[in-house]
Amino acid sequence: MGEYLLNSIRSRQKTLGGRLQQMGIVVAIANQKGGVGKTTTAVNLAASLAVAEQRVLLIDADPQGNASSGLGYVRGSNPNDLYAVLSGEATLSDSMIQTELPYLRLVASNPDLVGAEVELIGAEDRAFRLRNATNAIRDYFDYIIIDCPPSLGILTINALVAADTVIVPLQAEYYGMEGLGFLMGTINRVRSALNSDLRVDGVLITMFDPRNNLSNQVAAEVSKHFHVYKTIIPRNVRLAEAPSYGKPVILYDAGSRGAQGYLHLAREILEKHVNNQGVE
Ligand code: ATP
Ligand code: MG
Repeated sequence: MGEYLLNSIRSRQKTLGGRLQQMGIVVAIANQKGGVGKTTTAVNLAASLAVAEQRVLLIDADPQGNASSGLGYVRGSNPNDLYAVLSGEATLSDSMIQTELPYLRLVASNPDLVGAEVELIGAEDRAFRLRNATNAIRDYFDYIIIDCPPSLGILTINALVAADTVIVPLQAEYYGMEGLGFLMGTINRVRSALNSDLRVDGVLITMFDPRNNLSNQVAAEVSKHFHVYKTIIPRNVRLAEAPSYGKPVILYDAGSRGAQGYLHLAREILEKHVNNQGVE
C-alpha cells in the first residue's frame, strides 16, 4: 500500500511536469504547544517528499534535537550544526549532512542552540540569520523544512522570518486549540513587521483517534478559521517507535498507517503547491 502511494506520487509528478518549482519553498513546522507532532511531521513529511524525489533539506531548529536523532544523527558527530550557522561561524552548506535517503539532507541541532536565544539578543539582524542562510541555498532544494521548538522565542521567529509558509500540527483534542490564537497572533506580527510574504499553508490534525468523538469536533471547529489538510494523521505506534531506530517511519514500516498518512500529506502538499503556482 505504501509502495502504491509512492508510485502514484511519482506518476502524478511526471504528468505535472517533474519538478514543481525552481526555487525551494521554505516551510516552518510550528506550534508553541509541546508534543503536538511537530517533529514527527517535520521528519516524516521531509522523508515522504524525499522519496517522491523532491530535493529536501530538513533544518532542526530545536535545541532538543529530536529531528536530528530521529534521522539517526549522533550528537556531536558533525562539527557544524545550526548553532554554528546562527552564530555566523558556518554556512548551511558547511553544516548539512546526507541522510539515509538520497534526496534528504539534514542540518542538525544540539543543546548549545539554547544559547543562541541569549547570544543573539544584541544583534541587529537577530531575526534574519536563518533567512539569510536559507536564501543562499534555496536554489538547490525543492523544500526546506524547519522543525521549530515548542516556544515563540528567537529560534521560532528566525524560522517564521525565513519561511514562505507555515504548517501547524494540531493534536486532535480540545486543549490543542487553545494556543492557536496565540500562534496566529505571532504569525501576524511577523508578517507585518518582518516577513510580509509569510502565509499559513494549513493546519494538520495529528494523533487522530477515531474512537474519540472530540477529534471530529476539533477538526470541524478549526476548519471554520483555517485551511485544514484533508490528510489526517492517525495515532499510530509505528510513528512513535521509528525515531528510536533513527529512521523516518517510511524506512521503518512503510506499510503502517502512520507512513501512509505522511505519504498522503506529501502528495496533498505537492498538488496544492502545483495548483497555487502553476508548472513551468
Ligand atoms: P516538542 O514540542 O517537544 O518538540 P513535538 O510537537 O515535536 O514535541 P513530537 O515529538 O513529534 O511532538 O511528538 C510527541 C510524541 O508523540 C513523540 O513521542 C512522538 O513519537 C509521538 N507521536 C507523534 N505523532 C504521533 C502519532 N501520530 N501517533 C503516535 N504517536 C505520535
Ligand atoms: Mg519537536
